[in-house]
Amino acid sequence: MSEERKWEHCGVCEKEKERGIHLYTMFICTECEQEMIHTDPSAQKYQYFLEKMRVMNQTTLYS
Ligand SMILES: [Zn+2]
Repeated sequence: MSEERKWEHCGVCEKEKERGIHLYTMFICTECEQEMIHTDPSAQKYQYFLEKMRVMNQTTLYS
């Protein structure tokens, strides 16, 4: 018996990943999640994450 795992598309790094979390309608892989946690909120990368999520939420609202 083999357990079939579904790889999901990470909304942050845009790659297919096996492990991660769902934030609203967006899938974030474990690596990006860790990166987010350790990113300084004032850093530009953090703004990038927020922007990604904002776009995701809008997409959901109007679809
Ligand atoms: Zn990722």
